[in-house]
Amino acid sequence: MNNNNLITNKPIAGLSMIVAAAEDGAIGRGGDLIWRISADLKRFKALTMGHSIIMGRKTWDSLPKGALPGRRNVVVTRDKNFSAEGADVYNSLEDAIDSCKGAETFIIGGAQIYRQAMPMVSKLFLTRVYASYPDADAFFPEIIANEWVVANEEAVAETSDGLRYQFIDLIRK
Ligand code: NAP
Repeated sequence: MNNNNLITNKPIAGLSMIVAAAEDGAIGRGGDLIWRISADLKRFKALTMGHSIIMGRKTWDSLPKGALPGRRNVVVTRDKNFSAEGADVYNSLEDAIDSCKGAETFIIGGAQIYRQAMPMVSKLFLTRVYASYPDADAFFPEIIANEWVVANEEAVAETSDGLRYQFIDLIRK
């Protein structure tokens, strides 16, 4: 990872994105997640454990217990005085990504950070949630189908309260 990559917006090897999004891209509401899917939280933990995770300040604020253990937590904010216990803070996304060079790194949201990082990621771990949420207020950017290859797609599963979801792993062409 280096600044040349960032300037040209080229995908960076080792930089992935992980998200749970409804079909219209909805990912959040009122500063929080919209759903709780325990299998999705388990998958998130398994994929990110031991690696670096980069998030926007609002997503950081939404974490119920602060820094996620066992991972290098990296927070992006424009606030030069911001400090976050258990996390490294950067004032630009580029600097945050650059600080992770050589390490497996996941962009974990939210909407602002996903949108800016989209051109730079080479893998996308998507949990597609098959439901609609008209009151959602945070959205994942469009996934342009011809830019990605589906590397793995699991069968649609269902939570005990009937919410349907699917794990889909995408690799940039
Ligand atoms: P966000 O992306 O988490 O954070 C936005 C903040 O990041 C900005 O206010 C700013 O912080 C900082 N920032 C953004 N771009 C920056 C840049 N280029 N340089 C420096 N700092 C920058 O917030 P959001 O878009 O509102 O998303 C939050 C929502 O997404 C919540 O509802 C959350 O639950 C949801 N979410 C969903 C998922 C999912 O998988 N479904 C995952 C993560 C989050 P300052 O204001 O401090 O300057």
